[in-house]
This record gives sequence, structure tokens and C-alpha cells, in this order.
Amino acid sequence: GLQAIRCPPGLYFDIEAQTCNWKDQVNNCNKKNKDRRAKPLLATEEPICQEDYLACGDTTCIPRKQFCDGTEQCADGSDEASCGLYFDIEAQTCNWKDQVNNCNKKNKDRRAKPLLATEEPICQEDYLACGDTTCIPRKQFCDGTEQCADGSDEASCDINNDPNRAPVCNPEICTIPECFCSLDGTAVPGNLDPQKIPQMVTLTFDDAVNVANIELYNEIFNGQRVNPNGCGMKATFFVSHKYTNYSAVQDMHRRGHEIASHSITRITWPVEIPHVFQGSSSVMALSNVLMAQMRLPVVSGFCLHFGMDINNDPNRAPVCNPEICTIPECFCSLDGTAVPGNLDPQKIPQMVTLTFDDAVNVANIELYNEIFNGQRVNPNGCGMKATFFVSHKYTNYSAVQDMHRRGHEIASHSITHTNNETFWSHASIDDWAREMAGSRIIIEKFANITDNSVVGLRAPYLRVGGNNQFTMMEEQAFLYDSTVTAPLTNPPLWPYTLYFRMPHACYGNLQNCPTRSHAVWEMVMNELDMREDPTFDESLPGQF
Ligand SMILES: [Zn+2]
Repeated sequence: GLQAIRCPPGLYFDIEAQTCNWKDQVNNCNKKNKDRRAKPLLATEEPICQEDYLACGDTTCIPRKQFCDGTEQCADGSDEASCGLYFDIEAQTCNWKDQVNNCNKKNKDRRAKPLLATEEPICQEDYLACGDTTCIPRKQFCDGTEQCADGSDEASCDINNDPNRAPVCNPEICTIPECFCSLDGTAVPGNLDPQKIPQMVTLTFDDAVNVANIELYNEIFNGQRVNPNGCGMKATFFVSHKYTNYSAVQDMHRRGHEIASHSITRITWPVEIPHVFQGSSSVMALSNVLMAQMRLPVVSGFCLHFGMDINNDPNRAPVCNPEICTIPECFCSLDGTAVPGNLDPQKIPQMVTLTFDDAVNVANIELYNEIFNGQRVNPNGCGMKATFFVSHKYTNYSAVQDMHRRGHEIASHSITHTNNETFWSHASIDDWAREMAGSRIIIEKFANITDNSVVGLRAPYLRVGGNNQFTMMEEQAFLYDSTVTAPLTNPPLWPYTLYFRMPHACYGNLQNCPTRSHAVWEMVMNELDMREDPTFDESLPGQF
């Protein structure tokens, strides 16, 4: 998922500034660590420190939460030495420097496209045309090897374009028990009514089974937690080899759990943070939560997440009631796609909200001037405006003042923008107030904004802060948040008020969405539909 991304696509991590930036602004891209500091001892066979502590490079133990918190507590600084990620332009994701070997590339190569949809076929049967009109066998398209001279056979391979793509579901051919499919994936085998069948939850755990988690697993599977039919609760353990205690795995299998493969080499992400700690800290929450309150665990690549589910929070927000919730104070709809005023979605123009995050300074002012040069206007002739979610560090407030003067909206994006992403998920109400109301005070004072127009905020790294964030927003009189993202839907979602329940699932494995009523608007971010032009993102330097 996108949740772990530290740098938006196209940006590089500046290890000195500890922030993402344009490549030509980052001149330390070949440095792995600030000042080549000692590494912490995180992945030792036996833990060096007691629970919730981790070892510095010199084996002293400090609290785990002091790692990567922006302050060096280890004498050798090693607690802050393994925190920076780099952007992998090929993989379109952030990774540790030694995993990224294309650090000097700024753009993904633009490859030629195959000629698949020509009016008359160019090639004989079972052959298709490369971008240069040469014909190669159809099965060589999207096979992972470039056979066209221009590489175009591998350049258009998503599920809508791969010439060898799988057929759509055919329930006539595909029958239980050998096969099951449905067009949207939600049909129930045997055509049962989803309302009438019990929810099934698959409990899974990833990575090494060893001293760091065996006790926890014993606690979870202590025989007290049973299925409605009285049978004991079982799980699937996806076991990776390194650090695994196989006699413990044998015991798990003996007790009826399923064992499954999760690789020998344990291609870790991120490599220097041990899975066992990541995993156990999240799973830890489970032991304190009744099974009935447990949310379906989702695998996020390296840890499981359990949180308060909007369907189970006893104080959850009510479902949308359009009788009570009326424009302009309130707007909601059950699935989020209704249009205010009951207008027909087909008949209203598409609205696009343009937003920019982080510091405004010499690194981007010219770009903003270029974008907002007055040439780009709305269909009604009014100039194009944007919202700038401004973080404090490195911000030039006279530039912010100028943006505001020119009609753009200024909003809060925190003071510290701390790169400890989990901080934002679990920050207290006071922390949120310090960061966001504090940021607003600074903006208003330094950029001399006196019209009370700083009313919105966005959490760093798009980490939704749950009920704490939104409680703070009410207390501090923020009007809207723009951190929540929604899965791809057609039509996309409208902004909604969080007095009523969110009209879509909490999107993103690591997100902590609000469950309760808050008098706050959500300017929800809809996922960009890339299917019309899969190459669209190549020219986009940032993420929406
Ligand atoms: Zn940011």
C-alpha cells in the first residue's frame, strides 16, 4: 500500500534535511546516513534488551519509542541512524538506500507503446504489433522480457491492456469447489444471501516465530477464545525462515494452526526494523481487545493492524440522516456519491481541488509561480486557485503571505512534520492541538493572515489521527480535514461531514479513521482513476 511511503513519487529523501525534496535540491543522495553514524542492533538472534527497549550500536538499551523520533538518545546516535528512505523510481516506492540503485534517475523512462488498437490489424493472427510496427507473437507481450526493439511489448501491461490478460469471470464455467469468481468479488458461493451468513474472519500472522512472540501467541490461543460453534480459534502462520524457532512451529501445527510459507530470505521492509518487534507491538493490542471488537486484520507488508472498528465502537457516529443533515452546514449520503441538491452527476462539471503540502520556500516558489501564472483559468474565466497545506520547518512565510494575497487558501500541516509516521496515527488530543492549532498561530502571525481563513488541515504522511485528531479539530474550531483517502469509486465521493458515519471503508492498512461524531467536514481525497491513461503519473511530480 501507499501508507508506508515517505517520499511522494518523483521526490528524493534529503538525509541532512530529513525531508523529501526535488532531486536537484538533494545533494546527499549517495549518503546513507547522516554523518555515517553507528547502526542500532535491531535484528539480533536473541533480544539484547527487555521488552519495549531496543539496543543502540554500543548495546545500551533505550526505549523503543525513542528510535527515529528525531532526537539522538544513543551515545553513538544510532537510534536515528536507520530512519531515512530513498525513492525508487522504477519500483515507484521508497526503500532503504542500499536497495535503491537508480538514485540518479529523475524520471521513469518513457517507453514506446505497442500498436494494439489499430483499425485494421497490422499483424497476422496470434501476432501483435510493436510500437515500430514489427510483429511479434502475442504471447511475448507482457511476459517480463522485452522482445520489441523499442520495448513496447512490456510497456502497456496493466490488467486492461495486457493482450494475454485473464478473461472476466464466467460463473457458468467456474464452479465450486474447483473454482469461484464473481464480477465484483462480493457474490457468496452458492448464491447465499450475504445478510444471512456469518462473518468469517481469517486470522493470520507473518514472519518468524520465536521467543519474541511465542508467549503472545500462547496468550492469544489460550483456549478461552472460541468460534460461535464452540470450536477453538485457529490461525494461519506465514512463517519466514530467519530467526524462526521450528520446534515452536511444530507445536503450532500440532495445536491445529495452519503453517504457510513466507520466504527463506525474509525480504524485509524496512530491512533494519525487525519484524518481530513491529509485529508483536501491533498484535499486542489484540490481547487487550475482545475478539468481538477485533477488526479484520489486514496485512500491511510487515505488520498487522487492529483498531477500533466503526461498526463496533459503542460511541460510533450515527448513519447518515439526510433529513437532519442539510446544506450548507452539513452534507452526507449513505455511499458518499450523492450530489448536493440531488443534481444528476452526469450533468454537473467535474470539480478538482488542487492542493500542495509541506514547506513553501525557494525550492518550490518558482514552480508555484509558473503553475499559477494567470494563464490557467476555470471554464468561467476565474483564475485557478489552490490550497497550500503548510508545514513550519523551512517555510518562507513571506511567500505564504503572498500566496494568500493572490487568493490561494492556506491551511495547517503541522509544526514539526515529524517523520515518525505512527506518531500521527496515535497522537493525543493535546499533541494534535500543539501541532495544528500551533501551526495555524504561526501561519497567521508570520504570514499576517488576519481574515480567519486558515480553517483546514492535513496530517503529515496522510496519517489519519482517529478520534483524537477530530476531537481536537472541534475544540480548536477547524472547519475541515483533508487527510482521509477513499478507494476508487465511480462516481467519486463528495466532501462529507463527519457528524455522521464515514460513507466508505477506512482506506489504507495503517489508517486510524474516526469512528465518532465530529462537527468537521472531510474533504475526502478520491483515488485517481489511472485506467484512461496509465502513463498519467509519469508527468506528475507529487502525489494527490
Ligand atoms: Zn507533508
